[in-house]
Amino acid sequence: MAKKKIVILGAGYAGLTTIVRLQKLLGANEADIVLVNKNDYHYETTWLHEASAGTIDPNRVCYQIDNIIDSNKVQFVQDTVVEIDKENKKVILENGELTYDYLVIGIGAVPETFGIQGLAEHAFTITNMHTAGKIREHIEEQFAIYSKEAEPKAERLTFVVGGAGFTGVEFLGELVQRVPELCKKYNVNIQNVKIICVEAAPTVLPGFDKDLVDYAVSKLEKKGVEFKIQTAITECTPEGILVKKGDEIEEIKSLTVIWAAGVRGNPIVENMGIETMRGRVKVNLDLRVPGEENIFIIGDGSLMIDEAVNRPYPPTAQIAMQQAVTCAKNITALVRDQGQLENFKADIKGMVCSLGHNDAIGLVFGKRLKGTPAAFMKKVIDNRSLFIVGGPGLVMKKGKFKFL
Ligand SMILES: Cc1cc2nc3c(=O)[nH]c(=O)nc-3n(C[C@H](O)[C@H](O)[C@H](O)COP(=O)(O)OP(=O)(O)OC[C@H]3O[C@@H](n4cnc5c(N)ncnc54)[C@H](O)[C@@H]3O)c2cc1C
Repeated sequence: MAKKKIVILGAGYAGLTTIVRLQKLLGANEADIVLVNKNDYHYETTWLHEASAGTIDPNRVCYQIDNIIDSNKVQFVQDTVVEIDKENKKVILENGELTYDYLVIGIGAVPETFGIQGLAEHAFTITNMHTAGKIREHIEEQFAIYSKEAEPKAERLTFVVGGAGFTGVEFLGELVQRVPELCKKYNVNIQNVKIICVEAAPTVLPGFDKDLVDYAVSKLEKKGVEFKIQTAITECTPEGILVKKGDEIEEIKSLTVIWAAGVRGNPIVENMGIETMRGRVKVNLDLRVPGEENIFIIGDGSLMIDEAVNRPYPPTAQIAMQQAVTCAKNITALVRDQGQLENFKADIKGMVCSLGHNDAIGLVFGKRLKGTPAAFMKKVIDNRSLFIVGGPGLVMKKGKFKFL
């Protein structure tokens, strides 16, 4: 019988964890496995807020895919997926095409702008290494120019973050850590720096207890963040944003708007001709696309309902990596024709939101944490994801060990 061909798209948390598992589960003579990714490196998406603010060396955030895969079992193709043709079991790449018997889609998400005018054109997003680099360089450039301007512009040192969810708050925590360094470097008075977070919802960090949210808000406010809650961004322009609270409209002048208020599934999946909700596919419990026996979608592109609260699981690295384990088992069962596939069961261990390198809030194994213990736990979580993919060697190379 001809060997089956497994194609995995994306080397993020979902795709790379699937590969690591599959190369353990399957022998080289059982299947041809191909991994496709835009870059020859994987980046830790959950560390991008640090790379964006400039509080971590960007090289720490990435590692080479070649160092993770077993080249005897997996062929790596560095290319960009353009289209998935499910009728002909083909993936169209920028530089060629691939056929498959089994397909795993793990190409993540893209920013959701909710149709707000001007956001796509004028705001930055924390999406990948490229966008993180742009934010980091732009912020430093504002300080450099401000320090030399004959008539310094206040909007140059006004930084707006759209969204007070996980990504927005984690970025704010890093920004307030970075700003004093930049003020010192460019001899700028810190009183001239404004950091404003605009959130349409009635609360910061939905999903965390009020006590933890109050802690996070008060810590960030003490470091100079102004929160504008229940305030919606209605437009973004090259000069700043328009916001609306009740009937009142206000203009905030800023040369730096960072949009961190949500994601939607990758449009490549939306264009496949399957049903999506905000670009995400409600997959079956075995992680396959309904009606498609040979296509799995995992990670941010998938949508699964958390029965306990009757809401979709939020898109997280934790879920993406857990789904990858089930997905690898199910593909192995299909390749070996072993019948019944396993249903995915999430095992949510908690969540920790950092507020800079030494502070955080979290809910871990049902226990509420704040301050240093939470920050410690955050680093444990960051190191754990390195361990799952690359073992102790990767943790030693890239891990976070400085706790105070
Ligand atoms: C700043 C920030 C902080 C976060 N913090 C946490 C946290 O603390 N805990 C948590 O659980 N989650 C966190 N998340 C969410 C988490 O990062 C995502 O849920 C997770 O990355 C999803 O994994 P994924 O594999 O689906 O996608 P990704 O990790 O985004 O990987 C997608 C991969 O696909 C590749 N790709 C995309 N398009 C193409 C294409 N067309 N062709 C080829 N390759 C392509 C990309 O290059 C990338 O390698 C955070 C997110 C951000 C932005």
